[in-house]
Amino acid sequence: MEFTTHLVCRECGKKYPLEPLTVCEDCFGPLELDYDYERIRHSLTKKILKSRPQTMWRYKEFLPLKGEPRVGKDVGFTPLIHASRLGETLGLKNLYLKNDAVNFPTLSFKDRVVSVSISKAIEFGFTVVGCASTGNLANAVAAQAAASGLESYIFIPEDLEAAKIMASAVYRPHLIKVKNNYDAVNRLCSEIADEKGWAIVNVNLRPYYAEGSKTMGYEILEQLGFRVPDNVIIPMAGGSLLNKIKKSFDEFETMEWIDTHKTRFFGAQATGCAPISTAFKKNSSEIQPVKPQTIAKSLAIGNPADGHYAVQTIRNSGGRADDVSDREIVDAIKLLAVTEGIFTETAGGVTIGVLKKMVEEKEIRPDELTVACITGQGLKTIEALSERDYPIPVIEADYDQFEALLH
Ligand SMILES: *Cc1c(COP(=O)(O)O)cnc(C)c1O
Ligand SMILES: [Zn+2]
Repeated sequence: MEFTTHLVCRECGKKYPLEPLTVCEDCFGPLELDYDYERIRHSLTKKILKSRPQTMWRYKEFLPLKGEPRVGKDVGFTPLIHASRLGETLGLKNLYLKNDAVNFPTLSFKDRVVSVSISKAIEFGFTVVGCASTGNLANAVAAQAAASGLESYIFIPEDLEAAKIMASAVYRPHLIKVKNNYDAVNRLCSEIADEKGWAIVNVNLRPYYAEGSKTMGYEILEQLGFRVPDNVIIPMAGGSLLNKIKKSFDEFETMEWIDTHKTRFFGAQATGCAPISTAFKKNSSEIQPVKPQTIAKSLAIGNPADGHYAVQTIRNSGGRADDVSDREIVDAIKLLAVTEGIFTETAGGVTIGVLKKMVEEKEIRPDELTVACITGQGLKTIEALSERDYPIPVIEADYDQFEALLH
């Protein structure tokens, strides 16, 4: 039961068969998956959807697999939290957080794209998978390759956080540090994919990989009871997640499961790596590549593959792209922790930092239904915080010493 029909060029519309292809041979535009939505409408109802297990695979008709998933069967359906305390602090009455900091198995939204792309790699008959990663993708590919018994090659910039390196190494992939930034790692991986014929999931399987991100959007809509949010705030690295959440809303509109949406999409970046936000502010959709310099390493892509489309999506929706400093990122991580009890990584700090800025600038109004996407786990980037900010008393196991502390 496959509802995917073909790949289509985003620029010229030329159609391609469902093969491991990524760019149009005529115009070099990126290829995108298309579906037979009429057939999906005839076979899937909200009622059927409600009866299914709470994983991202409840939306399998909208994902590009021929058969059942081969790995990552339990990924997704993370909590959507009504953030009343953070909302009160920021002055928002209807704030929700989509919390992929607790996604399974590797605590980031990347588990979604990896379960789709490794399953697809297996369908295509690849026996070796890999990725070029800013950290979370490495964790997800390493874990899910191990779980499916595939050999994996994982390429990361040398300077990643300790936890992100160890949370890849533990699964025993072929893990390779590259003495350069993500953009150079990505170029190297294009060459490797061509030479070796491996499935580098975000390179030569990119159209399939990227579709996994849509499930975050479907879940937001379903968990809101099919109400459409006014605003969604999404952190951007390559810009793919933002475009795919927009696509997921369009698809549920096609299904007539939601009203025509007028959702405004807000793209969030770190000031130290803000090529998409900069293009937006310059009123251009030409992306000028930058050299990343930020603690938000998971978002440190200087030449974002989908940046051009992200700017368009944001602009057409009436939303905004903006960026926050490393200092604001850390403050936002702390604010989310003390108000909602959620510890997010630096990318989540970027989301909350930009959300705060948008409220202060009255772009986002108190009564609007607003969803902020928390895409990764704080334990992976503890380097962003300093123990000096948290002086912790040490005492003997002695009651009087405890009493003394209180005075
Ligand atoms: C990869 C990543 C993103 C951004 O993803 P893109 O689709 O490349 O824009 C956001 N948050 C986290 C934690 C990530 O690891
Ligand atoms: Zn084309």
